[in-house]
Amino acid sequence: MSHHYSQRISHHRGAAGELQSSDMSLSSSSKGKSSGLNQHYEEKVRPCIDLVDSLRSLGVEKDLNLPAIAVIGDQSSGKSSVLEALSGVALPRGIGIVTRCPLVLKLKKLSKDKNGHQWHGLLSYDKQTKKLKDPSEIEDAVLHAQIVLAGKGEGISHEMITLEIQSSDVPDLTLIDLPGIARVATGNQPKDIEKQIKDLIEKFIKKQETISLVVVPANMDIATTEALQMASKVDLTGQRTLGILTKPDLVDKGMEDTVIRTVNNQVIPLKKGYMIVKCRGQQDINDKLDLVKALEKERRFFAEHSHFRSLLEEGKATIPLLAERLTKELVEHITKTLPQLQKQLEKKLEKTTEDLRALGDGVPTDEQEKNNFLITKIRQLNDAIEGVKRAEEDLKYSDKRVFTKIREEFANWKLVLDTKSIKTEETLRDEVQEYVRTRRGKELPGFVNYRTFENIVKKHIGELEAPALKLLKDVTEIVHSCVDRIVNSHFNAFPHLLRAAKDPIEDFVNEQFQRAEEKIQSQFKMERIVYAQDSLYSHQLKNVKLKSSKDCGLSLQFASADVREMAHHLTSYLTITCNRLANQVPLIVQYHMLDQYISQIQNAMLAMIGGNNPEMLLREDSGVAGKRKDLKERLERLKSAGKVLSKFVYSA
Ligand code: GDP
Ligand code: MG
Repeated sequence: MSHHYSQRISHHRGAAGELQSSDMSLSSSSKGKSSGLNQHYEEKVRPCIDLVDSLRSLGVEKDLNLPAIAVIGDQSSGKSSVLEALSGVALPRGIGIVTRCPLVLKLKKLSKDKNGHQWHGLLSYDKQTKKLKDPSEIEDAVLHAQIVLAGKGEGISHEMITLEIQSSDVPDLTLIDLPGIARVATGNQPKDIEKQIKDLIEKFIKKQETISLVVVPANMDIATTEALQMASKVDLTGQRTLGILTKPDLVDKGMEDTVIRTVNNQVIPLKKGYMIVKCRGQQDINDKLDLVKALEKERRFFAEHSHFRSLLEEGKATIPLLAERLTKELVEHITKTLPQLQKQLEKKLEKTTEDLRALGDGVPTDEQEKNNFLITKIRQLNDAIEGVKRAEEDLKYSDKRVFTKIREEFANWKLVLDTKSIKTEETLRDEVQEYVRTRRGKELPGFVNYRTFENIVKKHIGELEAPALKLLKDVTEIVHSCVDRIVNSHFNAFPHLLRAAKDPIEDFVNEQFQRAEEKIQSQFKMERIVYAQDSLYSHQLKNVKLKSSKDCGLSLQFASADVREMAHHLTSYLTITCNRLANQVPLIVQYHMLDQYISQIQNAMLAMIGGNNPEMLLREDSGVAGKRKDLKERLERLKSAGKVLSKFVYSA
């Protein structure tokens, strides 16, 4: 490796017109750090890249989306070739899906003076890391990692492989290589391989923090490329998408103008526009053309090309210019996404703190303290469910108070009853007439008897039993699910305690439900006795009659007097009964499903303190201790990241 990007980049920073004449000699090291542009680089670019790097090295990548550049494109469009040329590192290549896991290529430029020609490679995946001594080790190491993560064959995996390269010969960039979009599954590929790959790609490119490089062969119709469509779908305004045309040497004669118009953003315009590069073709590889020579060849290709020369002059062609452009884009992007990153970080920090608090501090080891710990846990639970009973519970357990929901159910029950008792006299009258017509015995017309009255009353009230039982069921569900949530959130970390609490609770809810059900059923049995206090009944009847003479139209007056009389009686009695049930059923439901049920739980919880073995009850789920550790580590990471970020923001 001897090509040197910072020099090459500083070359191109000059007027574009110079390019043709400038000597791109790769070994020259005369243009060193003294150039003003390099200073600009050290002052502006470096700190940004370092910021993201130090965030990365804190490991916050797991927690936050850091700015990155993802390379996407159809299979064989030249993605790996572009990455290779940018990084100076040979990556696995071949036919079919070669990239089967996201490969994060972290390129870190070492300053040449201090480090000479050092090269450090570090491959990490799935908690393993492997030091690489030489670029030639990369290909096998990546292939091996892919087999570990995605298996043999042609499947893909979402697990990331990270390849970190430090060298004086690479630009400061982080790039992500993704599997190419396959149009059809071949032999041993999963049938839905296209969808799998697209899902994976989308996961990366839809992040606001990712710049997408869409690689399209210049000899293809750009309008048909899947990758560009995918990118524009997740990046509607095209702010984060840069088009890269490859294989300019394979463009058909006569098609050059189309290519030029594409690069000049006149075919499918992108905010960030396009660049064009030429990488090693198959023949170059067969000829073992090394990456440095390939760059020379690329530059010569553009400089000597009768059509594409203009693109080089405009600074839109060649790998080194692309590298420069990308570094610039990345820096801009980092600066732009900083506020977002900070917001993300704050949110995550809050959530982590909250999660950690929910897990608690863990169980003390001392016997006596352990007992106290259990007592505290149980008391906290009992307080929480007492809150439900008193309609004072913490609203974090659901969107509405349990009692609010119950009250709504009760109001609903009243509505059901009202529609019964408010049945107009007119409909009741029709019913009486119908009843008399079909069931009349040997009596003469006009003798509507008490039996008829009783039968109609019983029928109507009987119809209310099912809605009453449904009310009981709905309220039970409301209370029980809330209690369940509370118990879960309090005892989550202790599976034994959770079990010990939940078993009896399940019994209690059934027991209380049954009792309430029996009471409601027996209430309806009692209602088959037609009864009301004489004075109440007479009072109600008087009201009904008074109202009826005022409200009712002519139609009622045409009904026979006895039928009218009967309708009045029915309305009166139904009103009284419905009023009785409007109170009675909710009272039963509330008594059993709220008061009794919750008291029973509270007593059982208290009983656990004395009787059981706290040691056993408080044995933590093995996962919880690990989770607590993870959360604590994350918290530390995020805090450090917060410091790094705010330091950067204030110094900028
Ligand atoms: P990927 O599947 O998108 O990673 O594509 P590769 O980078 O593996 O490239 C596919 C094929 O195109 C390989 O044989 C490359 O050598 C070839 N290729 C890539 N870029 C160019 C180019 O600029 N010119 C020519 N002629 N061939 C290229
Ligand atoms: Mg590839």
